Amino acid sequence: MAESVDLPSRLAILPFRNKVLLPGAIIRIRCTSPSSVKLVEQELWQREEKGLIGILPVRDSAEVVPTLSPGDRSSKNQEEISDSHKLDGKNQQEVIHWHNRGVAARALHLSRGVEKPSGRVTYIVVLEGLCRFSVQELSTRGTYYTARITPLDMTKSDMDQVEQDSEFVMLSRQFKTMAMELISVLEQKQKTGGRTKVLLETVPVHKLADIFVASFEISFEEQLSMLDSVDVKVRLSKATELVDRHLQSIRVAEKITQKVEGQLSKSQKEFLLRQQMRAIKEELGDNDDDDDDVATLERKMKDAGMPPNIWKHAQRELRRLKKMQPQQPGYNSSRVYLDLLADLPWQKTSEEHELDLKAAKERLDNDHYGLVKIKQRIIEYLAVRKLKPDARGPVLCFVGPPGVGKTSLASSIAAALGRKFVRMSLGGVKDEADIRGHRRTYIGSMPGRLIDGLKRVGVCNPVMLLDEIDKTGSDVRGDPASALLEVLDPEQNRTFNDHYLNVPFDLSKVIFVATANRVQPIPPALLDRMEVIELPGYTPEEKLNIAVRHLIPRVLDQHGLNFDFLQIPEATVKLIVQRYTREAGVRNLERNLAAIARAAAVRVAEQEHAVPLGKDVQQIASPTLESRLADGAEVEMEIIPMGVNNHDISRALRITSPLVVDEAMLEKVLGPPRYDDRETADRVATPGISVGLVWTAFGGEVQFVEATAMVGKGDLHLTGQLGDVIKESAQIAMTWVRARATELKLATAEETNLLEGRDIHIHFPAGAVPKDGPSAGVTLVTALVSLFSQRKVRADTAMTGEMTLRGLVLPVGGIKDKVLAAHRYGIKRVILPERNLKDLVEVPSAVLSSLEILLAKRMEDVLEHAFEGGCPWRQHSKL
Ligand code: ADP
Repeated sequence: MAESVDLPSRLAILPFRNKVLLPGAIIRIRCTSPSSVKLVEQELWQREEKGLIGILPVRDSAEVVPTLSPGDRSSKNQEEISDSHKLDGKNQQEVIHWHNRGVAARALHLSRGVEKPSGRVTYIVVLEGLCRFSVQELSTRGTYYTARITPLDMTKSDMDQVEQDSEFVMLSRQFKTMAMELISVLEQKQKTGGRTKVLLETVPVHKLADIFVASFEISFEEQLSMLDSVDVKVRLSKATELVDRHLQSIRVAEKITQKVEGQLSKSQKEFLLRQQMRAIKEELGDNDDDDDDVATLERKMKDAGMPPNIWKHAQRELRRLKKMQPQQPGYNSSRVYLDLLADLPWQKTSEEHELDLKAAKERLDNDHYGLVKIKQRIIEYLAVRKLKPDARGPVLCFVGPPGVGKTSLASSIAAALGRKFVRMSLGGVKDEADIRGHRRTYIGSMPGRLIDGLKRVGVCNPVMLLDEIDKTGSDVRGDPASALLEVLDPEQNRTFNDHYLNVPFDLSKVIFVATANRVQPIPPALLDRMEVIELPGYTPEEKLNIAVRHLIPRVLDQHGLNFDFLQIPEATVKLIVQRYTREAGVRNLERNLAAIARAAAVRVAEQEHAVPLGKDVQQIASPTLESRLADGAEVEMEIIPMGVNNHDISRALRITSPLVVDEAMLEKVLGPPRYDDRETADRVATPGISVGLVWTAFGGEVQFVEATAMVGKGDLHLTGQLGDVIKESAQIAMTWVRARATELKLATAEETNLLEGRDIHIHFPAGAVPKDGPSAGVTLVTALVSLFSQRKVRADTAMTGEMTLRGLVLPVGGIKDKVLAAHRYGIKRVILPERNLKDLVEVPSAVLSSLEILLAKRMEDVLEHAFEGGCPWRQHSKL
């Protein structure tokens, strides 16, 4: 770079649009306009030595002013003259502003472009800015301009003087520091800068300022003001400011880049993992895409037929889901929730066909033996529904011991109405959330059983069985019964609110049917909404009929057998009922029949080789059985029920005579009899034992009461998991017996205290089963009287009744079940409170006719009936 340049007084001028060439900078220009081409050709190209030209910044202007000739120019600061490019152009009116200062430039390189067919040529010129000048006068030379100029750069002596100036020294130091900093920043970024550092050492600082600034991208105004900074101090301070600004902008840009890079790498990582996951899924044949998934969900939601307000809610939730990444917490829960919304039967119903009462009755009769009154009540219920389909009838509640057909009656109602059936078990439900669901804010929250049941059944008008409604309890987690109240209330269940679902669901189309073992535990408010239909349990005769007509055909069918193969005669069924079951329902009976069927199936396998095979044996569907039969090998028992189509065994294996189940086979299959009629006689073999009748969740039961005396201090011990009421009954019984000890001839007149020197222990066997209730009163007294009198109670007599302290016998509940239980146990005589006479109408006449019913008003009546030969004291008095 030249230290000082000898400038001619007149320079050819190249206007430089909206740009400034600063001393020390190098530019490359393509000259295309006729005037600039001419300038290059005449001033640079044709000269031996590349000449100098002046580069003058010009500014475009939209103003339209009268065109002035260049000759009119004065040395005003800002000249206005037509652009040389446009001099020969069409638009002569456009005005440009010439700057009055420029930079003299030397051509470093010149090249001529290929001549166009039109004859136009272009030149490429590489110029180096040398020093500033100011324009004294502009004039034209042919098509381009020349100007009379004055150099503006300082002379060497001026420069020497300035260098002494302390302000200059300070400014130049400041600039250099800044420049150094910029260089090291750039060095870090681009790993270049070694050369720039050398520049910093060798080039004078005022020139460095121009060189640095020329390399920045700054506005035209700033470039102009830099050009105008003839004073080196001004130039240095401006340059320092610009270098500083540039440095800042680099730093900010760097920060942003770092941030963006960080984000980019995270999302790139995610992208990569996602790609891998997709590949793995594809490999596993599980390539359902999340996007597709959401689209499917959306489609499903649209088809769900949600009411408008719920649809809006669902859409909001869906929008939220779409914004989430599948890995994001909450995505899954939101997804599962929307799935539920889409799956719920908002409008879907099972087609309700015209109710045919006759067909419904036939169906009930076909499915259930007996239960005449109950079936009649169900038909009435259905008839009302037929006449007024939207009638808000009561909720039917079947109450009775297990296995009496409550569930199957409910499912028959569903079948008669042509509706789907869904069972909701309420046994052991203590938490309200079980019915109403948990709010979605809980981790692992779920909808309640009701909504879940509706989702499973897929229609909004099923018959829903609320099973074991008496087994719900309440604790700190709320009261399920209150939620059930809302469910069963026709006024409220249109907008049933499940906490999880959080939008109302209309339950009004659901037909509810409930079951319970007992009425008492059902909360009164709930009971109020229901119509209780009691199923007391079956008599042995009924059980026999149920077994023959319903259970045996079903069990045979389930085991792939039929009557050609297995026959269970009525006498055998009777034996099963008497000796192997002692329940109110028929569940154990069914179980025992199934055991016999299983054993018979094994028999088939065992007898197989001896059985003459039918002609159609080749048509057996199962290849396993076929090949085994062909081999003559033994057929293993497992394949009988499972390996072949149910009906094939008996069809394929032509049995010459069916297998008839007899007593011997019963014992072989079911073991020795579990119960017999002698049980009571055996147990009541000693004094101090009486037979009571109690009522449990399993129906009526026979309950023995044992009392014994031993040496002691007059204490009363009670065992057998007794509740408070029954303990009190024992106290009352003891008191009553002690009070009448002499009267009853249980003690002599001298020793009036029965407990003198002894303790009494009363035990209720089946010690593991909790017992409570007042109805054991008369049984307790009878046991005590038997103990003290040392006389045995009649083994064929059972009793029930509450006793007051004064010996009155009060009526008790569950008479029907108790009488049935006595009948089951083979008891012949039953002592009941007189006021329970009315309850006997409910007892089947077949049972009544086989029993002797003895009514008691006072305790003495009970004792009279309970002992062989009457009440003990009369015996005594006779003596
Ligand atoms: P629950 O619901 O009362 O406990 P289920 O309805 O489950 O009893 O009945 C148990 C079994 O006994 C079922 O297989 C049912 O079909 C059968 N059953 C009960 N009562 C009868 C009846 N009266 N006629 C025919 N089958 C019956």
